[in-house]
Amino acid sequence: MRKRTENRKAAREAAKDRDEREKLLRLDVGGSADLPIELASASQIEPHALGLSCIHCGGSYQLEAHEAAVHRGRGVRRVALKCRQCGAPRVTYFALPMLQ
Ligand SMILES: [Zn+2]
Repeated sequence: MRKRTENRKAAREAAKDRDEREKLLRLDVGGSADLPIELASASQIEPHALGLSCIHCGGSYQLEAHEAAVHRGRGVRRVALKCRQCGAPRVTYFALPMLQ
């Protein structure tokens, strides 16, 4: 009985940690279209994205989607990733220098 309660508590705390990490990630650079990771060229986007590690388990990501979007009049790239190890999704935003 006691063990079950503790397990539930641990599961709840793990879920809270997970939410907390997700929240911090969204506030960090690259976590939203408002604060994209700035790169010099489009060819750097995928290597950069794939060089990130999972915030939950430290695993490496695989690329799920890479699309161009316009955010507040500026072109951004939205890259969807998925952890190879735990399957956690992650979306990272990138921006390139504006064309003159
Ligand atoms: Zn993971």
